[in-house]
Amino acid sequence: MAFACCTALASQCPGLAVALPDSLAYNKTELSYWSLQEATLRPSCIVTPQTSHEAASVIRVLTSSNACEDADFAIKGRTHAPAAGFANIDNGVTIDVTGMSSVKTNEDHSVASVGAGASWLDAYAYLDPLGKSVAGGRNGAVGVGGLTLGGGISYFSPRVGFTCDTVVNFEVILATGELVNANASHHADLFRALKGGTNNFGLVTRFDLATVDISKILGGSLANDISHRGAVFKAFADIASAKNYDVRASIVTGLLYNSTSKGWAVSSTPVYTLPELRPKIYEPLFAIPNISDKLEITHLHVLANETATPPLNWQFWTGTYSVSANLLDRMFDAINTTLYTFNPPEGIVWDIAFEPLPTVFTAPGAGKNSLGTSPDDGNQMIMLLSALWPDSGSNAKVHAKAAEVVESVNKVAREMGMLREFVYTNYADWSQRPLESNGGENVRFLRETARKYDPDGVFQRKMPGGFKLER
Ligand SMILES: Cc1cc2nc3c(=O)[nH]c(=O)nc-3n(C[C@H](O)[C@H](O)[C@H](O)COP(=O)(O)OP(=O)(O)OC[C@H]3O[C@@H](n4cnc5c(N)ncnc54)[C@H](O)[C@@H]3O)c2cc1C
Repeated sequence: MAFACCTALASQCPGLAVALPDSLAYNKTELSYWSLQEATLRPSCIVTPQTSHEAASVIRVLTSSNACEDADFAIKGRTHAPAAGFANIDNGVTIDVTGMSSVKTNEDHSVASVGAGASWLDAYAYLDPLGKSVAGGRNGAVGVGGLTLGGGISYFSPRVGFTCDTVVNFEVILATGELVNANASHHADLFRALKGGTNNFGLVTRFDLATVDISKILGGSLANDISHRGAVFKAFADIASAKNYDVRASIVTGLLYNSTSKGWAVSSTPVYTLPELRPKIYEPLFAIPNISDKLEITHLHVLANETATPPLNWQFWTGTYSVSANLLDRMFDAINTTLYTFNPPEGIVWDIAFEPLPTVFTAPGAGKNSLGTSPDDGNQMIMLLSALWPDSGSNAKVHAKAAEVVESVNKVAREMGMLREFVYTNYADWSQRPLESNGGENVRFLRETARKYDPDGVFQRKMPGGFKLER
């Protein structure tokens, strides 16, 4: 039990907000978790530092006080990693970084300094009126911290790479409680490791991100009858495999299956980061008869302000593949066969989304981040399989079914020689091994860097949540 540690934190960090079970602040934070699996964990206390220095004191007490010897901890951002224990902990200390959410820019607005606990909407709402943006998450409620440390796919990624590739400086607290800056000239190894290496190195308090220019953009959705899926797959594959990929374009094409109605739907969210309603690259998609067209020219902070979902159980799984309409057709058949009769109490919704990973996207970070992706891999596509269901009693069965679906899809891709190695961290299930998917050299570098900056393995063992380098 970590209650003694909570008492030590309250007494040794004067002014620190320490919320105990069943207090208003504690219950509010618990309710803010995006997935039920996370919301149902019960930390002994939740601490909310308001500054980097306060957060450094918290880490110092956690790693040096006798009262905290047996207390493990978790770091919580904006809670969008669904797996239990990634950003919350039973009987430990949860550090909520959302108290550090300020957004500022330098004089010429070329760099935005964003507090680790900010949401992407916080950043977009501040930057849009300046004609600037950052390459962050598409749903504004997602956290700057988790998304950036796991890579980050943005509407701007075809132009500037993963979100982490746009970081010019991380302010980070090491296991000793020391606050350091990691950038190209200071702690350059840590700088690279943090670009995809997740929470294995420290608690990041601030991200300095290179900005991009923005005015209004094209966004929204386009839905087609499921009978047109072949044409939609072909349009998606043509866009994603284009030799001269249009760097303004970023599209997600998704299949939705509801186990109660046993109905499928197919839709796409084509975005263009210029105010053009009918960009040429999307012509093949526009040519398919649609049942709904909600595309519009809008501001990013409006597009990113999505309606929140009610509390549900969630699971993410992922895989990366060569781009092919034929593969997508065969994947659909495999998924349909595996899922069709699975219907847990109160039902389940499956969302299987595909997005391009073109060479223009992987080029900026090749050899500079710790994701291990390279333009040499050619144009690829990433699958995000999400499942959402209300009945927590079905969690184990859903997990087994999702694993079966992913294996059925991977089997088809393997047979066609189209299964690729990359497992994108931010979309991975806890049972997948994204950090290991990046190639032996890469994971060796991550492990060495973690041992250098955290020789006692605090962020490996005392903070067990997330994808760990040492297991
Ligand atoms: C609705 C939705 C939309 C999404 N859209 C996108 C998208 O457009 N692009 C994309 O790439 N991904 C997207 N994702 C995936 C998302 O990037 C991951 O779920 C990410 O982990 C969420 O980060 P968070 O801070 O909100 O979550 P949290 O659950 O709070 O944190 C996730 C992990 O990061 C660690 N962490 C958070 N902050 C810090 C910090 N300051 N220092 C150290 N460790 C930290 C936590 O310990 C935890 O392990 C989306 C997810 C959802 C649910």
